[in-house]
Amino acid sequence: MVHAPPRPPADAPPVRVNLYSDTQTRPTAAMKQAMMAAEVGDEQAGLDPTVDALCDRMAALLGTEAAMFLPSGTMCNRVALLTHCRPGDAVLAHETAHILTAEGGGAAALGGVQITPLPGAGGQFDEATLTAAIAPRWRYGTPQTLVAVEQTSNLGGGTVWPLARLRAVAEIAHAHGMATHMDGARLLNAVVATGVPAAEMAAGYDSVWLDFTKGLGAPLGAVLGGSADFVDRAWVWKQRLGGSMRQAGLCAAACLHALDHHVARLAEDHANAAALARGLAQIEGITVEAPQTNLVFFDTRGTGRRAAELAARLRAAGVLVSAMGEWRGRACTHLDVDRDGIDIAVAAMRAAVAA
Ligand SMILES: *Cc1c(COP(=O)(O)O)cnc(C)c1O
Repeated sequence: MVHAPPRPPADAPPVRVNLYSDTQTRPTAAMKQAMMAAEVGDEQAGLDPTVDALCDRMAALLGTEAAMFLPSGTMCNRVALLTHCRPGDAVLAHETAHILTAEGGGAAALGGVQITPLPGAGGQFDEATLTAAIAPRWRYGTPQTLVAVEQTSNLGGGTVWPLARLRAVAEIAHAHGMATHMDGARLLNAVVATGVPAAEMAAGYDSVWLDFTKGLGAPLGAVLGGSADFVDRAWVWKQRLGGSMRQAGLCAAACLHALDHHVARLAEDHANAAALARGLAQIEGITVEAPQTNLVFFDTRGTGRRAAELAARLRAAGVLVSAMGEWRGRACTHLDVDRDGIDIAVAAMRAAVAA
């Protein structure tokens, strides 16, 4: 039995503040206008000028030779791992990595690729942990071919990998003959939080992608970058997985609009996350992990109420958060949440804990 997410009851009150995920942003009126005005063509045949414009712009932003447009971030990870690895190969990644915990086992199911989970605080492993996990190459060993990092780390708490550690990890990987992959679902959150340009963060990574459906607010789409040779080989997997598209410029236009209008404002999401963290921390029994970007993780153990119970009580007050573990909850800020929404959410949590 595979569990579907519960449908909200028909009599559920309207959602006032949606902190469930930054994937739940809706395209703005201006974004929809940009989509309607897009010049389009057959993307699979290389004839969509808007997709080409997006890929060129993303290659420049990420500092890669080439880039490709894909329907989702999950498909970017899938295509990248399948392009880098052969069946039986191992990828070294953090134990909370999206590729390991949230992609239906796709790396193994579709590529015969195994993922070796590495420990470490905040969704990050350090140089010593990586080095210790690298096995000597010999005839009987598992071929370790790729090291993957997540910038920012989702389940690690929206944490930003420091530049020095990113560089060191890439150097260790390359020194051992492994390729490097950056899951940059929220890469621009890291960029806005630190002021370090995306290309600098991605330097040393053989593949890197950005999601447009998180805080950037597009309805679908993600862009995967790498060398021209990598992207060329990745196209085979894009086609095999059914990820080639037709008039995809409609969606690429939403992504271009997001690059123009929704990047600098990520700073507001980070400020709102900090305000939310401050508010939640003042509630008796709630412990908050200090946010670095737009994800606020909190522990409910001190209230005696499980995360799912508090989430249900908040839902009844029109506030959505997610339960990520028995006692761990997550609230995401994004472009559909303003400061008033933060105040409403904090008041609702206070009432939910006290009730
Ligand atoms: C959301 C997410 C993905 C998957 O992206 P989709 O566009 O939802 O498929 C991959 N990695 C991380 C870290 C994410 O947060």
